[in-house]
Amino acid sequence: MFETLFTPNSSVETNVNIRLRKGVIIGAGQVGMACAYSMMIQNCFDELILQDINTDRLQGEVMDLIHGVPFVEPVEIKAGTVADVGQNADLVIITAGASQKPGESRLDLVVRNVAIFKKLIPDVVKYCPNATLLIVSNPVDIMTYVTLKLSGFPAARVIGSGTVLDSARFRTLLAQKMGIDPHSVHAYIIGEHGDSEVPVWSKVNIAGMPLYDREGSSELDNAALQEIFERVKNAGYEILKLKGYTSYAIGLATTEIVQAILRGQDRILTVSSLVNDFYGIHDVCLSLPSVVNEKGVIKMVNLTLNDREQQQLIHSAQILRNIFDTLAL
Ligand code: NAD
Repeated sequence: MFETLFTPNSSVETNVNIRLRKGVIIGAGQVGMACAYSMMIQNCFDELILQDINTDRLQGEVMDLIHGVPFVEPVEIKAGTVADVGQNADLVIITAGASQKPGESRLDLVVRNVAIFKKLIPDVVKYCPNATLLIVSNPVDIMTYVTLKLSGFPAARVIGSGTVLDSARFRTLLAQKMGIDPHSVHAYIIGEHGDSEVPVWSKVNIAGMPLYDREGSSELDNAALQEIFERVKNAGYEILKLKGYTSYAIGLATTEIVQAILRGQDRILTVSSLVNDFYGIHDVCLSLPSVVNEKGVIKMVNLTLNDREQQQLIHSAQILRNIFDTLAL
């Protein structure tokens, strides 16, 4: 095509191998597309493949994104699967599955999403054996554990988006309360991404100044702080009720994890991954502040929790463990 426009350079070497960053997003629904758009405008990948069983919608979404490529850094965006154009991806991000309906908890989705993952994961393992797997589908801690078991991949390379979004919501609401920028608030939500998640109040700090003093009192009203956490925990439900799904913030949260992996950033993020020997917690995927780079989750912070936080975390782990135990994988 266009032979008259170009003169091929006969001295081009064929063994030059530039490493292209290749990603696959499985599930091109509201969350998958928010991830794709965010990753496209933040130059995460050289090649981005979107996979979905709803192929008509997928074609439309991909066309829509491709028409935006002239406005961003070059990226090749394709509709396909891990078995064809997605082979040997560096990262496979899974957002496929049933989403919550108003009134449903994240845990209500387990059975439907486990069945979907049983179909998806074997191909991911076969065609992308060296990929890092990033799970976003809910209930995300359960789906991360399920993926770990179904894939047989090393635990470092099976990561859930966990409470990265919840921690961002926590920082945002605290920042609003204090009239500062959320980047300057250090605060973590750990445990399950869901109803049993745990706010680590004892470690919330601004410029190294803890929110609570050693005696456990704060300048801010305790009831107001508790209300902030309730709003964080219920934010997903609230948005679902208002607009039917959540998308932008989870797209950005997922992109942050992707950047940490692809660029080897050693960032501390509250991703979900396999936890063993932490306050007696064993063999459960849940979120703790963890160091994330190109090798995946390489270590976790040995967070010192007060008694109440320890109990809450152990309770959260127990809820997840009880569900794992009911799954026939
Ligand atoms: P959605 O219904 O809009 O999209 C789901 C997509 O998955 C659909 O396009 C569907 O066709 C596709 N799909 C289903 N089975 C598939 C298969 N076997 N292969 C490929 N694609 C398949 O839902 P959504 O709002 O995008 O939510 C997706 C998931 O993300 C849900 O589980 C939701 O609860 C979860 N979520 C997680 C977080 C988080 O913080 N981890 C936040 C928001 C939503």
